[in-house]
Amino acid sequence: MTNKSAIAPAQKLSEKLPLPLKRLADLAYNYWWSWTSERVFLFQNISPEAWERYGHNPVAVLESASYERLTQLAEDPFYIKHLSQVVAEFDAYMNQQDTWVSRVAPQISWQNPIAYFCAEFGIHESLPVYSGGLGILAGDHLKSASDLGVPLIGVGLLYRQGYFRQRLNRSGWQEDYYIDNVFQQMPLELMLNERGEALTIALQVRQRMVKVQIWRTQVGRVSLYLLDTDREDNDPIDRWLTGHLYGGNQDTRIAQEVVLGIGGVKALTALGIQPSIHHLNEGHAAFCTLEIAWQEMERTGKPFYDVEASVRNRCVFTTHTPVPAGHDVFSPDLMDSHFAQYWAQLRLSREQFLALGAKRLGDPWEPFGMTVLALRMCRAANGVSELHGRVSRQMWTALYPDRPENRVPIGHITNGVHAPTWTAPLMADLYTQYLGTDWQTRAIDPAMWADVDRIPDAELWQRHQVLKERLIAFTRYRIKKARTDRGEVGDRIHAADLLLDPNALTIGFARRFSQYKRGNLLLRDAERALKIFGNAQRPVQIVFAGKAHPADEEGKRIIQKLMEWCQHSAIQHRVAFIEDYDIYVAQKLVQGVDVWLNNPRRPLEASGTSGQKVCFNGGINCSVLDGWWCEGYQVGMDGKGINGWAIGEDAHTSNQELQDRIDSESLYKLLEEEIAPLYYDRDNNGIPHRWIQMMKASIKTNAPLFNTDRMIADYVTRIYAPGCSTISTPSLAQVIV
Ligand SMILES: *Cc1c(COP(=O)(O)O)cnc(C)c1O
Repeated sequence: MTNKSAIAPAQKLSEKLPLPLKRLADLAYNYWWSWTSERVFLFQNISPEAWERYGHNPVAVLESASYERLTQLAEDPFYIKHLSQVVAEFDAYMNQQDTWVSRVAPQISWQNPIAYFCAEFGIHESLPVYSGGLGILAGDHLKSASDLGVPLIGVGLLYRQGYFRQRLNRSGWQEDYYIDNVFQQMPLELMLNERGEALTIALQVRQRMVKVQIWRTQVGRVSLYLLDTDREDNDPIDRWLTGHLYGGNQDTRIAQEVVLGIGGVKALTALGIQPSIHHLNEGHAAFCTLEIAWQEMERTGKPFYDVEASVRNRCVFTTHTPVPAGHDVFSPDLMDSHFAQYWAQLRLSREQFLALGAKRLGDPWEPFGMTVLALRMCRAANGVSELHGRVSRQMWTALYPDRPENRVPIGHITNGVHAPTWTAPLMADLYTQYLGTDWQTRAIDPAMWADVDRIPDAELWQRHQVLKERLIAFTRYRIKKARTDRGEVGDRIHAADLLLDPNALTIGFARRFSQYKRGNLLLRDAERALKIFGNAQRPVQIVFAGKAHPADEEGKRIIQKLMEWCQHSAIQHRVAFIEDYDIYVAQKLVQGVDVWLNNPRRPLEASGTSGQKVCFNGGINCSVLDGWWCEGYQVGMDGKGINGWAIGEDAHTSNQELQDRIDSESLYKLLEEEIAPLYYDRDNNGIPHRWIQMMKASIKTNAPLFNTDRMIADYVTRIYAPGCSTISTPSLAQVIV
C-alpha cells in the first residue's frame, strides 16, 4: 500500500496537541465521532464559537485552537476522563473481530472488499459533497456497513464546491451560490506514492489526459476514497471536472461519470485494492463496468464478449429513479466525442459499443442509457422499495423480451436510515434506559423496540417537547439571521423571535422542491389552509426547508409561493421556511416535529428516507402511500392508521389535476378531523395519551424495519454474499434478487 513514508495528517495534527489530548486527532479524522452527542461534545467543547464558524469540522477546530485553550483542556480531569472513555470505545470498535459479517458471510473479506460507487456521499454537514436523498443513503450505507463489520469501501468524487448553497432574496426567489471546500482543513488524507507525492491516475476525458488524485476519509471502519481533478498540472477546464455536484451541462455530466466510473476503477488498482464486488449505487458509475472489462481483457487476452460474464459476476446495481426521464442518457454524438478511442481499446465497433447502452436496438439515434448499461453488466439489480421494484420491472421490461414483466430480474431492498445518526441524543438516552444500553446494535430486533411501551407517557412527551423547543429556537435563529442578511426592516427581524409556539401542533416538510413532490399541495385551497393554520383553539404550524435545482424554475416558483404565504398576516407566526437545507437542518427538523408531511405524486418517490428518520424520534408520518410508506403504514380494525396517516388512501388516477384535488382534500380532512383533534386531546396534566400511543406505534413498527442495519443485512445476504468469491458465470437464480 501507499503512504508508508509520509506523515499522515492525523499524526501531524496529533503532534501539535498536548500529550493528554493526542488521541483527539485520531477521532477528528474518523467520522465515527459524529454518531453520538458524547463524541460531538469533545470537539464542540474546545470552542463552541469555532465549532459554529467552521461548520462542525473538528479538524479545523483543533487546528485553530489556541495553545492556552488546549492546555486548559489537557488539565481538566473531567474532559480527560471523558476523552479516555470515548477513545477506549473507539479502539474497541475499530478492533472488533467478532462482527455480524464475520459470522454470517465470512467469505467477504478485507482482502477483496466490496467497492460501493456513488456520485455523492452525505456523511456529515462538514463534508458537503452531497445534494440529497441519494447521498444521505450512501452515507448511511457506509455507517451501517462499518457497524456490522462489512468489508466495504466507498468510491466517489470530491467536489471543490459541492452542491450549491441556497439563499432567498427579498421577493422569495432562490439565489444560488457556492463556497470553496478547503480540503487541507478537512478530515481528508491525500493518498501518496512511495516518493511522498500525490498518487495519481491518468485517464482520457474529452480528448485530453487528465490526472486525478485521491483523497481518503474514514467512516468508522470504512474508507471512503474521493477523486479530485483540481491539480495544477491539469488544463484549467479539467480542474473543474470535480468542481460541482450535478452542475453544468450534459458534457460535464458525462465527463464526471467517466472520472467516477473509469477513474474509480483505475484508482482502486493504483491503491492496490482488488474488490470482490462493485456496487453501483445509481447509474452514474456504470462506466466502471467497462474499465473492469478492459482490465480483464488485458489480463486474459480474451475479447470483450468473453469477459462480460466475469464482469457481470462482480457487479451489482441499485436503481433509484422511478421516472424514465430521471435516468442519465447521453446522445450518440456525445458518446462519440468521449468514447471513440475507448471502444477501439475494447476492440468493439461503434455499433457494438453503443448497443451496450441502448434500450432499443437498431435505432442509430437511440441514446446511451447509464441504467441500461448497468442492467446489462450487473448480475443483480434492485429498486429501493417494494413499489419501486415493481415500477422498475415495468419500466425496463423492454430489455428482457423473453420474460414476462413480473420475471424482469430487478428485485427490491427497501431503504433505511442509520439509527445513531438520526436519533436525537435525548431520545437515544431514553432508549438506553428502557431498551438497553446496547439498543444501537440491536436496531433490527422488533422485540426490543416493543419495549418502547415501557417508557412512561409523561417522560416521552417531556423529551419530545424539549426537542420541539430546540427546533423552534433554531428556526427563529436561522430566520432572524436570514432576514438580517437580506436587509429586512427591524420589525420583521424582531418578529422572528415570536415565530412558532412549542404548544402548537408542529408539522415539518423538507425535501427538494421539484414539481412531483408538490411542496405547495397544502396551499391548493388557500382559504381552507388559512383556517387550519389560523385556528385559535387548535393552532397548526409548519416548518419548510429544501432547495430547488438551480435549473428548475418551477421548483423555485413553489418556494416563492411558500415564502409569500409565510408573510400572510393571519399566519405569519405559524409558517417558517429555513434556508439552505442540509444534514444539520434535517436533524433538527426530524427530531423536533410532531408530524412529518410528504405528499409526492405517486409512484414518483422511489423510497424517501426523511420520514424514516422521524420515526426514531417519535414523530408521526402523514404521507401519500408511496415509496417506503407503502410498507410502513399500518391500519387497525377500524380501517384507520395506527402508526400514522395515509393521504389519499388508494385512490390513483393519471389525471394530475384530479389527483391533486383528491390528495389535497384528503390532507385537509386529515388535519381537521383526525390529526389536530388527536393532538389536542389532553388529560388534566396536558398529556395527549392517545397521541403518545401513536408516537410509540410509529417507533415500534417502523424502527426495526427502516434502519440501514436491516438494509445492509439484506444487501449482504441477498446480493453481496451469494456472488462473492464465486468465479463461475452467474446462474439465473443469482440474477433474481
Ligand atoms: C434524509 C435527507 C434527504 C432525503 O429525504 P427524502 O425523504 O428522500 O426527501 C434529503 N436531504 C437531506 C439533507 C436529508 O437529510
